[in-house]
Amino acid sequence: MSKPKHFVGLDIGGSTIKAVIINSSAEQVGPIVEVRSHVKEGYEATFLQLETALDALTNHAGISRGDIGGIGLDVPAPSSGGVIWGKANLGDDWVGTDICGKLHERLGIPVNMTNDCNAAAVGEYSIRGNHDGALLLVAPGTGLGGGFVLPGGTLYEGANGLALEVGHVSVPFMEEDGSLPACTCGLKGCLEAWVSLVALRRRLEIELRKPAWESHMLNCPDSNIEEKAFQLRTLAEKGDALACQLFKQQGYILGYGIADVVRTLDPGLVVIGGGLAEAKFRDQYMEWIREGFTERAWSVYRHSPIEPEKITTRFEWAEGGDAAASIGMAYTARNLFS
Ligand SMILES: [Zn+2]
Repeated sequence: MSKPKHFVGLDIGGSTIKAVIINSSAEQVGPIVEVRSHVKEGYEATFLQLETALDALTNHAGISRGDIGGIGLDVPAPSSGGVIWGKANLGDDWVGTDICGKLHERLGIPVNMTNDCNAAAVGEYSIRGNHDGALLLVAPGTGLGGGFVLPGGTLYEGANGLALEVGHVSVPFMEEDGSLPACTCGLKGCLEAWVSLVALRRRLEIELRKPAWESHMLNCPDSNIEEKAFQLRTLAEKGDALACQLFKQQGYILGYGIADVVRTLDPGLVVIGGGLAEAKFRDQYMEWIREGFTERAWSVYRHSPIEPEKITTRFEWAEGGDAAASIGMAYTARNLFS
C-alpha cells in the first residue's frame, strides 16, 4: 500500500510567502513556514523561494517531495485557469504566463492556483469544521476582495475567475456634490470606491476640508494623507468622532453591498476579513455593517421565513488571520488531488 499523501498550501503575498502542509486527514503538520516572495523580480525568483519553503515543510513533516499529492497556490492578482491576467504588484513576466503549468513541470507535483481572497475564503471555511453551508468572505483592505465557497468546501471562481469580485459591484451612494467616486478599476460608484483604504483616504481628505474638522488633530500640514489615514484605526479605537464617522459610513455601505450579494447567493454565513478583523473597535464596526445590511435586506432573508425572529444570515469575523489563505490552499489541494 502506498504512503498517504500530504498536501501543500502556498500563499504568495507582495513581500512574503506563507507555506503550510497538511496530511490526508486535513491536519496541519508542523509550523507555517514564511520566506520572502521576491515577486517583483519575476516568477522564476519566486519559484526558487517556493522551493525553499517546500523543503522546509517536508523537513518538518519528515517526508520527501514524492509524498506530496498536490499544491494549492494563491497569488495577489486576478487569475483564471492557472494564468494571471492582471498585474497588481507583481513583476512584468507573471502576466499571461501559465504559472500553474510551469510550477507543475518544475516540481513534478500537480498545482492549482487562485487569487488570495478566494484562498482566504476556503481557509475560513476549512477552519470552521462544523460549518456545512456556503460561505461568503468579504475583505476590506487596500481594495475590497471577496470569495465564495460552496457547501462541502469547493471554491466557486466562475468561468473567468471573476466570481465574487464584490469590490466592483455598484452601490447607490454619491458624494455630497452629487458625484460618483472613481474606482481603481476605471469605473465609478463601485463598492470598493467606498470601502477600502483608498476610499478612506479620499473620504478623509474631503472631510478635513470642512469647517467642522478645522481643529481636528489630523488637520495639520506636516504629514501626508497616507500617514493621516493610517492613524484612523487607532483614533477610532479611542472614539474619535471623525474616525468613527468615516468607519461608520464605510461599514454601513459595506453592509448595504453585502445585502445585494446575499440576495444573489444566500450564503448563510458572511465572514468579514481584512485588517479590521484585528481592530479593537471591530464589534462596533460589525454593528455598522449590520445597520447597512438591515436597511437593504428584505425581511425574508434578514429573518427566517419560517421563524420570523430567527436571523438567517450570520456575520462573523475572520478567524484564520494571516494563515487563512495558505491553509485554504492546502485544503483545496487535498480536495482536488487526493
Ligand atoms: Zn471598480
